[in-house]
Amino acid sequence: MVEAALRTRIMDWIRIRAEANGGFLHRQELLSFRIDGRDLPIIDFSRGIRNPAGLSSTLAIVASATGPYDDTESKDGLLHYAYRSGDAFSGDNRKMRAAIETGMPLILFRKEVANYYTPVMPVYVVDDYPEERTFLVALDEAFRYMGDLRDLDVRQREYAIRLAKQRLHQPAFRTRVLLAYDTRCAVCTLKHGSLLDAAHIVPDTEVLGVPTTPNGLALCKIHHAAYDQNMLGITPDYRVEIAVDVMAEVDGPMLRHGIQEMHGRELTLPRRRADHPDRALLAWRWERFRR
Ligand SMILES: [Zn+2]
Repeated sequence: MVEAALRTRIMDWIRIRAEANGGFLHRQELLSFRIDGRDLPIIDFSRGIRNPAGLSSTLAIVASATGPYDDTESKDGLLHYAYRSGDAFSGDNRKMRAAIETGMPLILFRKEVANYYTPVMPVYVVDDYPEERTFLVALDEAFRYMGDLRDLDVRQREYAIRLAKQRLHQPAFRTRVLLAYDTRCAVCTLKHGSLLDAAHIVPDTEVLGVPTTPNGLALCKIHHAAYDQNMLGITPDYRVEIAVDVMAEVDGPMLRHGIQEMHGRELTLPRRRADHPDRALLAWRWERFRR
């Protein structure tokens, strides 16, 4: 089907751009998108729901994030997306409802910071709750076949929450942290978004391990892995230390320049003080590095 193929091409392009940037797209890239010689903005200039003419169902929705978790999200791990104000059965709401029938995949954008969008896709509109004026958006096709999603059993609920963490919270965390650090590794200042991760200072398996910028560090892939392996530590006063045994090793240029020469460096911090790594969280992690 033509519409499904068009969506696939748009999503492929988004995936490639997001990958190159570090997991996000700039508003301007999305507004100036062209395909087959014509303009097809992927987001709306002013509205959260994007319904291009000629498509049966909504193409993209934007959810603004106010905290580490999405404001449209409830504790059930599913997304409750508010109707566009006005008539529930016309305008933008009509093509959202059509998406339930057509099963067309949508793109969800989390707007993390002004002008920056984290794509989460494909997502599906699976239900309509007129009494609360929201659509239910699932991050996985499986939810289309689970019946009434308000009565998920315990295992389905756990699955929904785990999925939200992987598909929604982790990408959003990466965007927030990378942007805070101007898309640079805090240890070596490497500036390629595609080679950068958001590392948790306190891992997300711990109670303190929340997906907030002060619990994050923008690190290149090698320094992220070295940090997680305790080959590289960061002191609560923002200094890099390399483990004693790693300092004693003799190997090629990656070990020497990429790791050993980082010993004693000062972290490159975000410009905004509120985004700086939390010293108490660094201390928690530093204790585990020194063991
Ligand atoms: Zn690095």
